[in-house]
Amino acid sequence: MQHGPLRNAYLDALGIDRWVPRHAPVEVQPTPVASAEARVIEVPQARAPQPAPDAFTKTPPVPLEPGIDWGPLRERVAACTACELCKTRTQTVFGVGNTRAEWLIIGEAPGAEEDRQGEPFVGRAGQLLNAMLLAIGLPRETVFIANILKCRPPGNRDPRPEEVARCLPFLRAQVALLKPKMILVVGRIAAQTLLATDAPLARLRGKLHHFGEARTPLVITYHPAYLLRTPADKRKAWDDLKFARATYQKLVAETN
Ligand code: SF4
Repeated sequence: MQHGPLRNAYLDALGIDRWVPRHAPVEVQPTPVASAEARVIEVPQARAPQPAPDAFTKTPPVPLEPGIDWGPLRERVAACTACELCKTRTQTVFGVGNTRAEWLIIGEAPGAEEDRQGEPFVGRAGQLLNAMLLAIGLPRETVFIANILKCRPPGNRDPRPEEVARCLPFLRAQVALLKPKMILVVGRIAAQTLLATDAPLARLRGKLHHFGEARTPLVITYHPAYLLRTPADKRKAWDDLKFARATYQKLVAETN
């Protein structure tokens, strides 16, 4: 698939100068993505019935049977009342994308628009994320996108530790099912949560981290909503994306 002109258009959208070779032009190979026939697209489903307020009880952190499949996992998320966010959500936001993707994109939690639509990273931040991914040869439909929390914190406040503790088993189950080759984490909160650190984002970017028992390679960059507010940092985000792509390509080359 040739993404050259599109990639340039998206780099322009990101506000990033295009690199022009001084000597012989170099053919930029798009990052390999899952084949079209291998794609299984998870699409958001109609809003699931929500528990009545008096049905809410604090349950222990979600017990999930080992090897749970996508369908039952989606149902478990849709019916979850394990933390108080179930009281205020419009619907759960399970995640979206290719269930055979090699890249998993992880954010913090749904915002207002995601809560309304049942899909992560929609609206302007979602469009910028799409542009960022496409700039490294990854159309949105070739990756899987999920948040740590599946329900929106009211007023877009930061997730609370007990909410993360109760919701994280869902993300871990998604990682176990997907077995991604690369995880791209967007935003400070998601990065600090997944790496169990309070180090600032500046110290976490530009390094290769690993996640979970499988030690999946993990790279961190800015949240697109932050980049919309702080366009001067788009250049640094582009550096992160190039680092993630180069790391992925090296990994693929080593395993072939
Ligand atoms: Fe359940 Fe997670 Fe929603 Fe809390 S945020 S109710 S743990 S799905």
